[in-house]
Amino acid sequence: MAPSSGRRSSRPPSARKPPLVFIVVGPGGVGKGTVIRRLLERDDRLYLSRSWTTRPPRPGEHEDAYHFVDKASFLAHAEAGGFLEWAQVLDDLYGTPIPSPPPGKDLVLEIDVQGARQVLEIDPEAVCILLVAPSVEAQSARLRARGDSEEHVSRRIALGEKEVAEARRIADAVVVNDDLESTVSELAAIIEAARAGVTRP
Ligand code: 5GP
Repeated sequence: MAPSSGRRSSRPPSARKPPLVFIVVGPGGVGKGTVIRRLLERDDRLYLSRSWTTRPPRPGEHEDAYHFVDKASFLAHAEAGGFLEWAQVLDDLYGTPIPSPPPGKDLVLEIDVQGARQVLEIDPEAVCILLVAPSVEAQSARLRARGDSEEHVSRRIALGEKEVAEARRIADAVVVNDDLESTVSELAAIIEAARAGVTRP
């Protein structure tokens, strides 16, 4: 885990009660979904929020990956105050519904940096973890493998560079997703440290 520039200098000294909020940000193709799935398998006290999106499902994508809706339904939900945060990413809208994790569980949000900023305004104690790819090649390969077009891969890589630069300013920790199990262990350690009320993971 590399130190980040950070945005806070202190956290309350005592352990906090659930739900803590863990925001995982990172460019497309960095493997956030895989890392988070593995993390949830290891830690049953985590609850992953299911986002809404206007993006159509990718071929082979699990129907539970998102709540897939059309733009009118998304905007109506936003208008009704149904989102904790929402943002446009490339051509589509993505939003976190107002969360209601089961009692005792901590909340995990897999969102972009615009959404992370909104959540941190609402809950400055949320822990923001930035995942980065070991290389642009690894990131592009992952995007291609999931069926993104070459044009989309280029747009994602360009957007990803901007996202990483912005996310470094708000992240509590930066983790390079090189080896899946070590990455998951690093995230698990950050989460445990936050649960214990440690000042900085
Ligand atoms: P993808 O289309 O690859 O599933 O997601 C594109 C981007 O949208 C990713 O950076 C992902 O983290 C982000 N994203 C997914 N859900 C949400 C959400 O609820 N809110 C925001 N702000 N971004 C999201």
